[in-house]
Amino acid sequence: MREFKNGICPKCGLKMESGYIYTTKQIKWTYNNKPKFTVIGDETLIDISGFAMKKLVSYRCTDCKVVIFEYD
Ligand SMILES: [Zn+2]
Repeated sequence: MREFKNGICPKCGLKMESGYIYTTKQIKWTYNNKPKFTVIGDETLIDISGFAMKKLVSYRCTDCKVVIFEYD
């Protein structure tokens, strides 16, 4: 996987700060915004594994409220 290195905000073009993102549950991806009552069928981008919360390298712009992270 190629690594996201330059950390430039796609909205304002300024340098983003690096850190780590994690979840206490799951972060899911779907292609539509229809209300759902179950997560079945949606892709999990970030999950917890056992008791450990997985942390992923992330970049954020606090002015634009944009976060970019790579998932695997
Ligand atoms: Zn920005």
